[in-house]
Amino acid sequence: MYIVQIAPECAPVAKVGGLADVVFDLTRELEIRGNEVHIILPKYDCMRYDHIWGLQVSMKDLWVPWYNGAVHCSVWFGFVHGRKCFFIEPHSQDNFFNRGHFYGFSDDVSRFAFFSKAALEFLHKDNRRPDIIHCHDWQTGLVPVLLFEQYVHGGMHWQRVCYTIHNFKHQGLTGEYALWATGLTNIAHYFNYDRLRDNFNHTAVNLMKGGIVYSNFVTTVSPTHAHEARFTDQGSGLSHTLNVHQSKFGGVLNGIDYEVWNPEIDPHIASRYNIETLDKKYENKDALRDRLWLRKDFKPIIAYVGRLDSQKGVDLIHHAIFYALRNNAQFVLLGSSPEPNINHHFWNLKRHLNDSPDCHLELGFNEELSHLIYAGADMIVMPSLFEPCGLTQMIALKYGTVPIVRAVGGLQDTVFDKDYDGRPWEQRNGFVFHNADHAGLESAMHRAIALWFAYPDDFRELMIHGMQCDYSWCRPGQDYLNIYDLIRCK
Ligand code: ADP
Repeated sequence: MYIVQIAPECAPVAKVGGLADVVFDLTRELEIRGNEVHIILPKYDCMRYDHIWGLQVSMKDLWVPWYNGAVHCSVWFGFVHGRKCFFIEPHSQDNFFNRGHFYGFSDDVSRFAFFSKAALEFLHKDNRRPDIIHCHDWQTGLVPVLLFEQYVHGGMHWQRVCYTIHNFKHQGLTGEYALWATGLTNIAHYFNYDRLRDNFNHTAVNLMKGGIVYSNFVTTVSPTHAHEARFTDQGSGLSHTLNVHQSKFGGVLNGIDYEVWNPEIDPHIASRYNIETLDKKYENKDALRDRLWLRKDFKPIIAYVGRLDSQKGVDLIHHAIFYALRNNAQFVLLGSSPEPNINHHFWNLKRHLNDSPDCHLELGFNEELSHLIYAGADMIVMPSLFEPCGLTQMIALKYGTVPIVRAVGGLQDTVFDKDYDGRPWEQRNGFVFHNADHAGLESAMHRAIALWFAYPDDFRELMIHGMQCDYSWCRPGQDYLNIYDLIRCK
């Protein structure tokens, strides 16, 4: 199969969140299975060009229709760690992708509406006819709309679209001008509740809704989150649309890259280990304590690694720190927040706990330290309010670090409670709580800490169950191929 991914991000060259990892990892998995895969990205000035090999112009002059005229673009080609990527560079005064940042501009919707149009125009003019176009999040919601309303008349009859939603929170709400700009000028047709008109903001065009309505298949990043999006407020206003289109909507759990996240080969940790050599994990615990100035005492280390965002349950993270310290455990936090008030709060907390020999808060982004934390901690806590998939818990499982999570989204699909899950004992791998409040969190933390002290053999078995889980891209890769096979023209 020939598959083209049209995406705003791809790790490691243009990464803001998990979407970037999915685009890279899924592409590699599809290639391993014998498919031809290309990725189309904007040519941002702030990309990691040191991760692109052989960058060269592939199409010098691409004219992309835009409002009543056309924008002159060049399309570049390069390899990102072996993945074949095209980068679209517009030469216009709008300067869409030379801003020093990926997002955060008042014309973000115009920037990505343009990118969607340009990607299709490139495929059309370069005579590329993929079996499947796979696009991602609100930034590329217009791709299926433009394909089936415009490009289908220019010879792109057989292309089919899979659309993956990584986060329902950002949907690309905009005015009618985005339709005008891309040539969707029959406004009455598109600005309709059956198509792109937002379900609640009656004056807004919703790009993500367009992606759902027009795509041949729509996925989100875990089965539980697919259910939540349809039946709870986590669909952020799109539940009705998803229910209308339920026959083409489902959840595919993300995977993680076991070449990066694997304690057997991890170059960033003090001592490598696997299930047979599990005791070596404790050399990493020592190394973590040395690095973060924590005292060496007979106590478990509980960690949090992740963004400090309201989605992650910041109040509960705060509470987890003090609960751990009161209950004879140590706490390590690695996180950062773009929101000034949350940042301020955690900086104050860090100052307050500065002298504690049992606690360290590292505020910032530090990939290398994150590896040592996954390897050195005994447990990891994730009290998320919502979590479409979550990678942190899957990484922790691989490192034998027992997750304590709230039963939401992808956390519910990957972590199974030691005491209350219906699965056989060998499949239980962590601690799960339901209510997003202090009592809920404490109940799970209490059970985890008590098991660590009183029943170390049982705790060790739980660690091993987690290490035995397979959350690689093998299964999701096959799931996506099955979807492509279902929708493609044969
Ligand atoms: P989200 O995509 O919502 O941020 P995920 O759990 O899906 O959350 O993915 C988080 C990923 O980012 C994990 O790989 C985690 O290790 C990493 N990460 C998050 N914050 C940091 C940080 N401050 N330093 C290093 N790695 C981080």
